Amino acid sequence: MAEAYKIIDHSYDAVVVGAGGSGLRATMGCAEAGLRTACITKVFPTRSHTVAAQGGIAASLGNMGPDHWTWHMYDTVKGSDWLGDQDAIEYLVREAPQAVYELEHAGVPFSRTSEGKIYQRPFGGMMQNMGEGPPAQRTCAAADRTGHAMLHALYQQSLKYDADFYIEYFALDLIMENGACRGVIAMCMEDGSIHRFRSHSVVLATGGYGKCWFSATSAHTCTGDGGGMVLRAGLPMQDMEFVQFHPTGIYGAGVLITEGARGEGGYLTNSEGERFMERYAPSAKDLASRDVVSRSMAAEIREGRGVGPHKDHIYLHLDHIAPEVLAERLPGITETGKIFANVDLTRQPLPVTPTVHYNMGGIPCNYHGEVVTLKDGNPDSVVPGLFAIGEAACVSVHGANRLGSNSLIDLVVFGRATGHRIAEIVKPDTKHAPLPKGSEEMALGRVDKFRNANGGSSTAEIRLDMQRTMQKHAAVFRDTELLDEGKILIDKVAARIDDVRVTDRSMIWNTDLIETLELDNMLPQAVVTMHGASNRHESRGAHMHETYPDRNDAEWMKHTLMWTQGKGVKIDYRPVHDYTLTDDIDYIKPKARVY
Ligand SMILES: Cc1cc2nc3c(=O)[nH]c(=O)nc-3n(C[C@H](O)[C@H](O)[C@H](O)COP(=O)(O)OP(=O)(O)OC[C@H]3O[C@@H](n4cnc5c(N)ncnc54)[C@H](O)[C@@H]3O)c2cc1C
Repeated sequence: MAEAYKIIDHSYDAVVVGAGGSGLRATMGCAEAGLRTACITKVFPTRSHTVAAQGGIAASLGNMGPDHWTWHMYDTVKGSDWLGDQDAIEYLVREAPQAVYELEHAGVPFSRTSEGKIYQRPFGGMMQNMGEGPPAQRTCAAADRTGHAMLHALYQQSLKYDADFYIEYFALDLIMENGACRGVIAMCMEDGSIHRFRSHSVVLATGGYGKCWFSATSAHTCTGDGGGMVLRAGLPMQDMEFVQFHPTGIYGAGVLITEGARGEGGYLTNSEGERFMERYAPSAKDLASRDVVSRSMAAEIREGRGVGPHKDHIYLHLDHIAPEVLAERLPGITETGKIFANVDLTRQPLPVTPTVHYNMGGIPCNYHGEVVTLKDGNPDSVVPGLFAIGEAACVSVHGANRLGSNSLIDLVVFGRATGHRIAEIVKPDTKHAPLPKGSEEMALGRVDKFRNANGGSSTAEIRLDMQRTMQKHAAVFRDTELLDEGKILIDKVAARIDDVRVTDRSMIWNTDLIETLELDNMLPQAVVTMHGASNRHESRGAHMHETYPDRNDAEWMKHTLMWTQGKGVKIDYRPVHDYTLTDDIDYIKPKARVY
């Protein structure tokens, strides 16, 4: 096989796959420590999905009212519905303020208060006084283009360091030897050359897999390639049943309207003009956490109080907010509303519906970014040489439900932590042992198989089948019947990959081939998501299983691990870390989660 393809070899101390917020931050950290560092990315760095983040980044700066890291911690633990690991959460919220100041110094043009401090808005589930309220203004924002500002600043900074960027290279598979990661194989999309990266550490920062669903706010590139590589390497994915639906995707288009819109005073109404969130979350109302708001909207629609001719969506009102405030604080979504819903939101409500937005599940890792697995009874067994960060990872700080603005902070805090960890483990220019024989075989085998695939279904047909199945069966509300049927259907869809047809046989910018490789990464993740959802007989965070409507801590306060390599899914568990990092705060004990 190798003879048919041109292979170019490289050696590095650290290779980061992905140039979103998390990948760039890790690349900077490794390069700054003097490590020979490469960053591989399938899209130009500033086109990564992080660029689309609108609302902001959470840190308890206390610029606009009292705040404290312990309050941020409480909210994150509660938001996670007690599935988050509290040591990792403590690390996240304590490092958060410094990480935001670092971004400020890197050139992120945050919006400002009248005294010139970083502007902070309220976001769902973010409260003062250990959940008691009132709402905390904790989400630092650069208008409604925070991710854009952040990603551009990070890319500019990363150019200052001596890292090599491999832009528009598609990572295919990990090189594994005796349970350790030795490198990664990638394809240069421009000329089809194959690149074998030998590296002492590989960081997967490949983002989420939202494109498994039909309606998602994520970019077309969010195909979970890192998760696909991990599953093929025989490693597990964690907590994949937890999928966040954002309450306000534009009806029909799926484009996001930031939670910042409700943070600035926006509210939801049903067909009777009622502000129904007052019934579901009397205290936090429209700013309850995302799972709660999405479920309330879905319930209103189900009970016949949706708006529009099909009564299948909800209105978001911003028309009561002064146009100057909208122009200053929410300019991006004002434009988005016009383009995607043809609505002038200074006068009319926006049609919105819950839309897939974020994957809480991912590659299991600890707060140093080290990938972990269950091995010989040890649930925290580190996979040497392999790291994961950002949405691709499951640290787990978001548990069963992520709070808005807690992802951007997760990217930079754990991106930085991972850089530090690699610098501790790997000394610059350490010699490389030879790679195992046939290290390129799995990657090349897949490229060759798909490039020559001549089956009965196009990639687009199989992808649509997957997306529709996930949309219907791995939805906001789930029950035994829906999930049992969903498992059968998604397994069938996944098997269709053997019958795929690719029409472009070339190696030059072959998007047909790349989309097929992406589909091959998404399918096993769709499968484990559905199987995981069916397996978890309780309701927690974003996983609302109506046959088991209550949270069941005695049996289910544990992380799901799932393996699949084509046939069947193996399921096991890791305990939730019920301890904190330091003695500065005690373990936050489970309570009923009401807003
Ligand atoms: C519309 C939208 C708005 C959001 N708003 C907010 C917000 O306001 N606040 C907040 O906290 N969170 C927000 N989120 C969530 C947050 O933005 C994402 O979770 C986060 O940006 C993901 O960053 P990442 O670094 O993990 O990956 P991404 O930014 O998704 O980047 C992935 C990178 O991996 C690379 N890659 C992937 N596969 C391969 C491959 N096979 N080979 C090579 N490279 C590969 C890509 O090229 C890219 O560079 C939002 C998300 C969306 C979709």
